[in-house]
Amino acid sequence: MKDKPIVVWFRQDLRLHDHRALSAAAATGAPLIALYVLDDTSAGPWPMGGASRWWLHHSLTSLAAAIEAKGVRLILRRGSASDEVTTVVQETGASAVYITRMYEPWASVRDTSLKQQLAKSGVELKRFAGSLLREPEEVRTKAGDPFKVYTPFWRALAGLGTPAKPVPSPKVIPGWSGKVASDTLQSWQLLPMKPDWAGGLRDEWQPGEVGAQERLKRFLAAALKSYTEDRNRPDRSGTSRLSPHLHFGEISPHQCWHAAVDAAAKTGGADKGLETFLKELVWREFANHLLVHWPTLPEAPFRPEFGAFPWSSDKAAVRAWQRGQTGYPIVDAGMRELWHTGYMHNRVRMVVASFLIKHLLIPWQAGEAWFWDTLVDADLANNAASWQWVAGCGADAAPYFRIFAPVTQGEKFDPDGQYVRRWVPELANLPDADIHAPWDAPPAVLAAAGIKLGTTYPLPIVDHGQARQRALAGYELVKAAASAARAE
Ligand code: FAD
Repeated sequence: MKDKPIVVWFRQDLRLHDHRALSAAAATGAPLIALYVLDDTSAGPWPMGGASRWWLHHSLTSLAAAIEAKGVRLILRRGSASDEVTTVVQETGASAVYITRMYEPWASVRDTSLKQQLAKSGVELKRFAGSLLREPEEVRTKAGDPFKVYTPFWRALAGLGTPAKPVPSPKVIPGWSGKVASDTLQSWQLLPMKPDWAGGLRDEWQPGEVGAQERLKRFLAAALKSYTEDRNRPDRSGTSRLSPHLHFGEISPHQCWHAAVDAAAKTGGADKGLETFLKELVWREFANHLLVHWPTLPEAPFRPEFGAFPWSSDKAAVRAWQRGQTGYPIVDAGMRELWHTGYMHNRVRMVVASFLIKHLLIPWQAGEAWFWDTLVDADLANNAASWQWVAGCGADAAPYFRIFAPVTQGEKFDPDGQYVRRWVPELANLPDADIHAPWDAPPAVLAAAGIKLGTTYPLPIVDHGQARQRALAGYELVKAAASAARAE
């Protein structure tokens, strides 16, 4: 049995450190086969988007180099993962497949059925935790139910004690010496070629475990202390930018948690920043908790009465939003940052999402889909929970009447207009006082800044005051639907 290989099937755990499945497999002493399957067939409407594919290419390059340095080749297969894993098991005579749990509903269904299928031929699919601090089922209300509200969820999770310490990478990873076919990464064509839109992504990111660790170190040294204040400022480098690394599992939340606790203890004065950072990591836990317990979260409003909202299907408005041409500088800056770098600051994500849903009345699922394709950190749980939160239809959502005013948000969180100037350069010469509302600037100021509204930069595609009233009227229909449902 010991001579039979074990397949370590990598998925959203593209690292060697703090990898419980890998460590457990190595500890058996059996030779290991490292496998990654590009599975576009099992995810239903959620196959990986364009920006994620760019990331995946580089992340797999990094993983392959790291594991090959230990003497193990990373085998690449493409197709239905159930079929490919089964074939690799048959071709190699493997005795078991080790995985880290994924929480996407489609992945749970796939893994459960694969487990049953493999068991028929005596092969065990062994699942390990590792991508979340706590398994979604571990955190429960006193009545034993899942949580719908974040703050009690945080308290309950914190009450379970300190999360497990990270485990080191196995010293020796014994590779299997047999032959098994592998695709080449190039043949998957994950990188955009015509056109190559990834220049901004290359400048911004270093996918892979080494890049993740460096990002964490830099954040803890430079930004943890002021995180509570600066995390809301898109004009500052106040957050960790670990989200794509966490999504692809190049770093574990346990590593982030413990490194942050250690850094705060060493430097002193960072307790507030530390607590805020840990709480953000737990928003990620909460989103996965919701997804596991309410698997329709990515598609359907958590509160069904939101089906009564009078959505619009204005394609031109959606296009203007996607391209950063709405005439609202903070919205346009965010959408262009997203297109250029595959990332957008959290504060601005909330503003642009609110604008799409509440100013343009476009269904939140359309924004969720655009983010899915363009974000390097596109994550089913975080994306769905966040869009529902902004729409007001989520579990623990912003109240429906909270409609972000783009000008006020810009003035408050980008007070000198630095963020807007960076991403909307055609407005760069406007004075700070006018940068978030160019339409209010006197004609002479616009002329001096070289701006012709409607030509060099769009006029607002909707009037904020009117849009606000329209959205509130729409929410009255939602309220009426909710009361009708209660009366039934
Ligand atoms: P930091 O502030 O450094 O936070 C540390 C980590 O905590 C993040 O890397 C992330 O893993 C987690 N985190 C922080 N905020 C949240 C949050 N609100 N919900 C869940 N986890 C959080 N995040 C994604 O990872 N993927 C998505 O697809 C995604 N879509 C979003 C869509 C909308 C409309 C909104 C409003 C938010 C979305 N977020 C998403 C959440 C959040 O914007 C990002 O996690 C955050 O901006 C990532 O930057 P950071 O790593 O610098 O965060």
